[in-house]
Amino acid sequence: MQGVGFRPFVHGVAERFGLTGHVSNDAAGVVAEAEGPCEAVAGFLKALRADAPPLAVVEQVSVADLPPRGDSGFRIVGSDGSGPRRTLVSADSATCEACLAELFDPRDRRYRYPFVNCTDCGPRFTIVRDIPYDRPNTTMAGFPLCEECAREYHDPADRRFHAQPVCCPACGPRLRIVDAHGRSLGEDPVTRAAELLGSGMIVAVKGLGGYHLAADASSEAATATLRSRKHREDKPFALMVPTLEAARRLCHVDDCAAQVLTGRRRPVVLLDRRDTGDATETVADTVAPGEHRLGVMLPYTPLHHLLLRELESPIVLTSGNVSDEPIAFTDDDALTRLSDIADAFLVHDRPIHVRADDSVVSTWRGRVVPVRRSRGYAPEPVTCSHEFPRPVLACGAELKNTVCLASGRRAVLSHHIGDLKNAETLRAFTEAIEHLSRLFDIEPAVVAHDPHPDHASTRYAEGTGLDLVAVQHHHAHVAACLADGGVDGPAIGVAFDGTGYGLDGTVWGGEFLLATCATFDRVGHLAAVPMPGGEAAVRQPWRMAAAYLRSVAGADDLAVARRQGPRWELVRRLIDSRVNTPLTSSAGRLFDAVAAILGVRDTVTYEGQAAIELEQRADPHHTDGYPVGVTDDGSALVVDGPALVGAVVDDHRRGTDLGLVAARFHNGLALAIRSVCREIADRTGVRLVALSGGVFANRLLLDRTVDALEESGFTVLTHSRVPCNDGGISFGQAVVAGARDRVAR
Ligand SMILES: [Zn+2]
Ligand SMILES: [Zn+2]
Ligand SMILES: [Zn+2]
Repeated sequence: MQGVGFRPFVHGVAERFGLTGHVSNDAAGVVAEAEGPCEAVAGFLKALRADAPPLAVVEQVSVADLPPRGDSGFRIVGSDGSGPRRTLVSADSATCEACLAELFDPRDRRYRYPFVNCTDCGPRFTIVRDIPYDRPNTTMAGFPLCEECAREYHDPADRRFHAQPVCCPACGPRLRIVDAHGRSLGEDPVTRAAELLGSGMIVAVKGLGGYHLAADASSEAATATLRSRKHREDKPFALMVPTLEAARRLCHVDDCAAQVLTGRRRPVVLLDRRDTGDATETVADTVAPGEHRLGVMLPYTPLHHLLLRELESPIVLTSGNVSDEPIAFTDDDALTRLSDIADAFLVHDRPIHVRADDSVVSTWRGRVVPVRRSRGYAPEPVTCSHEFPRPVLACGAELKNTVCLASGRRAVLSHHIGDLKNAETLRAFTEAIEHLSRLFDIEPAVVAHDPHPDHASTRYAEGTGLDLVAVQHHHAHVAACLADGGVDGPAIGVAFDGTGYGLDGTVWGGEFLLATCATFDRVGHLAAVPMPGGEAAVRQPWRMAAAYLRSVAGADDLAVARRQGPRWELVRRLIDSRVNTPLTSSAGRLFDAVAAILGVRDTVTYEGQAAIELEQRADPHHTDGYPVGVTDDGSALVVDGPALVGAVVDDHRRGTDLGLVAARFHNGLALAIRSVCREIADRTGVRLVALSGGVFANRLLLDRTVDALEESGFTVLTHSRVPCNDGGISFGQAVVAGARDRVAR
């Protein structure tokens, strides 16, 4: 990777072994010529692999003998931008310990300077305009080094040797605090911002990959104001807390979570809340209403460290946007779009070149599980076990879009782009493709896309004029899971999610695919049910209750029906008329129906809300589940979802505790998955199961399913490098395109 201090490192090692020669950085990698006694050269080679700097990844070292040249000393020579570009631009990295020490040392010339960084830390991907990664190709180009910084930059013994974003108060970017008209609000921006936050104001803060909106997390009034101004009704806000200890006061933090919280990537980590009883710190209810988990991150830029040190308490730090728009990352745009939300703007003059939202992860069984792979991860490639015969561009899903460029054995998964229904997101989509293909010098020959004819990404793919590969949504999920685990299949892919374009005119989302990375057969699915009103049923789970209950006697007397009044009857008629009522096998919609029937939620304000709340209401101490029928309709195994819902209704009518009913539903579904997998295994001998799709973000269902399958002797694959949700679709599409290319050759 470029900009991780590899050349200085090589220089240091060469000096340690008394070697002469030089090291350079071309677009293909690092080249070193070292001259000296054999043992010294051998020691040098060994140290190159063993002692590499924190942000460096040594993929391959090749060695060749050269005649001695009699050089004196060991030099670092400049970058060469010509030739093929195979080195990688690294992800942005959290402030390192050495820089933090300087930040809070009153004797240091960078004391309280919000842009302190070095070769081991700081901005990377979000400031790079082009490669090679040298200052003129970054958004630091406009800040010429002062004498002192230049000395550090050119001194091989210095921690800042060839650190491209290096700067100081004399020569680097400056912080300001302003109102929406750009007028200054004070001389000491950090202290002023802390004061404003402390008095309940909302402050827009320019971060690494875009603007955040900050508010005092303990203030009900401040967080409620932020919700209403941002038009974000229920979706939880992320928190930034000053220290790991502060995170522990709010949530349960195991070793795995502690490691990722304090690591260099610094994602938002989803953590189980402490009960209010044993929590020694609390946050306002409005932060994450009804949520058992909180999204928590630690400071990752010097500016965050300064601000949190001053406040000493958690703040809400949520993306700087209105509702579902993309996060603002240019200054003009932020001042315009956020002027109705933020009371003040904490800004600076180092431009952000690429928008990158915070990444989100959860932990499961001592492992980090990606939920949104963006800042701190992108554009680090995912290494695959096979070569891509031809370079691939994969256009991703319509929602939670990412794109993927693959070449060699590397798949470069983009930052989070968002929902492509929005015009601005669509622009970000094309920009991301162009930028990544330039940075990684990948000229795609094949374009993978969803077969949905109306998706913006499909139209983009068609417009490229390149070879097209249409990849069904759930096959992409399963292939992503297989390649994530480094296997080819065949496997029984269980893809459970909200929505994906099916190949038979119905909406898929509860699928069992007998799949390899190249092909699949749909061998099982949830029984298809009507989705009254199409998209409207996604926002109104009670409609799915009506659909699932259409043949249940006395359903109209249930509370869910009574709450809707006359609308219930209208939807029942809509179902019978089949107008604007596609059929769906979606597992997400099954969760919606059960959530509505149990009175957990009739309508949602964000994707997956009803299912998340249903999971949280389930009592995990219960392990029994409703029996679920599986039949063979001649072409596939069909899981009787309506019968499962019928069992929920019966139990609910008997007055059974909600926590128990919800648990039995989850457990029943896990057992149904096992029944189908067993039947497929009996027929095919395949005993590898890949679990993918957004529904498997549900940890209770994941736990129960993995346990049930493993008990029956299956090997189970789950995601660990790319998200199981639609953020991983582009990776899966690329994998399928590559696998088909290999088969064709
Ligand atoms: Zn540093
Ligand atoms: Zn300077
Ligand atoms: Zn999906």
